[in-house]
Amino acid sequence: TDSVKRLSFKRCVSEGDLVIVYERHDNMKAIKVCESAVLQNRFGVFKHSDWIGKPFGSKVFSSKGGFVYLLAPTPELWTLVLSHRTQILYIADISFVIMYLEIVPGCVVLESGTGSGSLSTSLARAVAPSGHVYTFDFHEQRAASAREDFEKTGLSSLVTVGVRDIQGEGFPEKFTGKADSVFLDLPQPWLAIPSVGKMLKQDGILCSFSPCIEQVQRSCETLRSNFTDIRTFEVLLRTYEVREVKMNSFQGDEDRSTELPPCKRKQRLNEEGNGLENPSPPVVMARPSSEARGHTGYLTFARLKCAA
Ligand code: SAM
Repeated sequence: TDSVKRLSFKRCVSEGDLVIVYERHDNMKAIKVCESAVLQNRFGVFKHSDWIGKPFGSKVFSSKGGFVYLLAPTPELWTLVLSHRTQILYIADISFVIMYLEIVPGCVVLESGTGSGSLSTSLARAVAPSGHVYTFDFHEQRAASAREDFEKTGLSSLVTVGVRDIQGEGFPEKFTGKADSVFLDLPQPWLAIPSVGKMLKQDGILCSFSPCIEQVQRSCETLRSNFTDIRTFEVLLRTYEVREVKMNSFQGDEDRSTELPPCKRKQRLNEEGNGLENPSPPVVMARPSSEARGHTGYLTFARLKCAA
């Protein structure tokens, strides 16, 4: 369908497209292409008209010779550039959720809350072209902004946003027995679990995201009556900075070498190449990035018990 093409497979940029303008891994933004418009940044002035007809992934130049890349708006990149109206799920949790919920093309998925639509965007791609995501948030403005975003990303035929208090009222009755999977990112998910039990098809799977273990415990207590295979995971993404360093100029190690006894210290200095005609070649070092995110939350999965 057109929406799937717009999301991942369209090859060349055209008027009205959403593109992700990539300066660096930590500096990207989503821009709608308009023939008469320009993008101005520290690398110069970029005419959108120069972008039209170029394949996604192209490097494009400004009048000053600066450059950026034009990337296709995949859900992975959208999660990095969307405007944060709430806390969002990031790609490490998202990919795990989609795999464990066994979401494939054609699935019907229920979600609450919609939040900033970060997860919904990936859910939509996973169910395309014939499935559907029904996502609910009780916050009207958030629901409206999410709808606008799904228009922008070309996903509105795959996602429907409803305004509803899911903890208070549960999911709408019309979805009873229709959902392949349900995802909850709510402050008191245990209040919505009885409704989830009604919405799921036989063997359907629930996932609930909670930042604190106390919420997980409470959800698990509620899950025990109707669900089986209850498992909680925490996904920790660890980014490493990898670079080449010369051992004889590696400050941290020099300091520590003074803790060694004198004979070992001499051996170590020789190994590092100090005072030798042919110093050791640089070595590749990896250390955890200072920007690495740690805990996001716990993902609790459970499968609906078969009716006796
Ligand atoms: N998973 C989303 C994402 O990746 O963008 C973020 C969800 S955000 C943390 C939680 C959302 O739940 C908020 O937008 C909030 O308005 C909504 N919410 C809280 N209580 C709710 C309720 N009782 N019914 C429906 N939505 C609710």
